[in-house]
Amino acid sequence: MRYFVCRAFHKTVMGSNETANAIANSLSGVLRQASEASQRVGTTVPPRLVAVSKTKPVADLQAAYDAGQRYFGENYVQEIVEKSPELPNDIQWHFIGHLQSNKVKTLLEGVPSLSCLETLDSEKLANKLNNAVESLGRDPLQVYVQVNTSGEESKYGVEPGDECVSLCKHVLTSCPNLRLAGLMTIGQPDYSSRPENFETLKQCRKEVCSALGQDEGALELSMGMSGDYVQAIEMGSTNIRVGSTIFGRRG
Ligand SMILES: *Cc1c(COP(=O)(O)O)cnc(C)c1O
Repeated sequence: MRYFVCRAFHKTVMGSNETANAIANSLSGVLRQASEASQRVGTTVPPRLVAVSKTKPVADLQAAYDAGQRYFGENYVQEIVEKSPELPNDIQWHFIGHLQSNKVKTLLEGVPSLSCLETLDSEKLANKLNNAVESLGRDPLQVYVQVNTSGEESKYGVEPGDECVSLCKHVLTSCPNLRLAGLMTIGQPDYSSRPENFETLKQCRKEVCSALGQDEGALELSMGMSGDYVQAIEMGSTNIRVGSTIFGRRG
């Protein structure tokens, strides 16, 4: 796996204490910026910070954990299944990568403390997850519906509008073992259109909540990464996913 390469890199370039200190410092910087951003917009509760640790060695995650971090995000099934048993079991894991339905069982069995899947993008996947949660006798799984707000062919996620509303409805009406936590988006890779992408996600939440007769506060917005989390918070994000600013660039 790639993260073994990074581990070797850290060992030779930095001492492990030095790496741990760097991670703790970056983490507290992100938390401070996030809290300042939410104060600027008058939000009482700062967003949840999911520390995105893909490709990073377990020692780096442990350093963030020791500094108080409890939410971690991973993108690859094999990697989260290998890393999670080596870390404390009160970590709340968020899976944030694309999930193929044939990997659902491997993920849920391999990560008993998986608390959230942020990338639900089809009814088929919802049904698979719902059945797997039931057959494993697990607690209900939180899910975010991923929305392709940038209209790129290569991006996963449902289309804003009817497709988004219909998948959310499906989760609520047909998946008793899933809990709809909210909507998630990534946005344009070059950041130039991210504000528009974030507006689109907010608009989707409006549509979903009005279709389901729910208060908008009932659904979260997962948006904002290293390059744009402050802006995302100012636009109403309640769940930010920050990787490289905390752990350093990925190899
Ligand atoms: C990798 C990743 C992130 C974190 O990206 P950074 O730019 O390193 O903060 C956030 N969300 C998703 C879905 C990712 O794949």
